[in-house]
Amino acid sequence: MSGCGCGCGSNSNSGGPFSKGKELVEFVFHAHGGTVRDQEIQQGPIETVCQGCKASFVLETYLGKCPECGGVHAVAPMCPTAEKIQFAGLDYTLPA
Ligand SMILES: [Zn+2]
Repeated sequence: MSGCGCGCGSNSNSGGPFSKGKELVEFVFHAHGGTVRDQEIQQGPIETVCQGCKASFVLETYLGKCPECGGVHAVAPMCPTAEKIQFAGLDYTLPA
């Protein structure tokens, strides 16, 4: 059990902070009962390039969408760097 790195013991049964792609996106989506995904990235917004349509955009919260294609991207709260941003996939839509 690795938790989410903040010591809260959050233990989602799917994915974790070191997951890739959709698993990481879903991990962030559910982390802390869904309270993390809308938080601004503590270290500041991250400039990135959409891994779906290659448009550049700024990821301001731990989970964000490309303004061009709506592609869902997320970054692990414990390690929010451009290299760590994961893309959920072209046809992915967030769970309601
Ligand atoms: Zn895009």
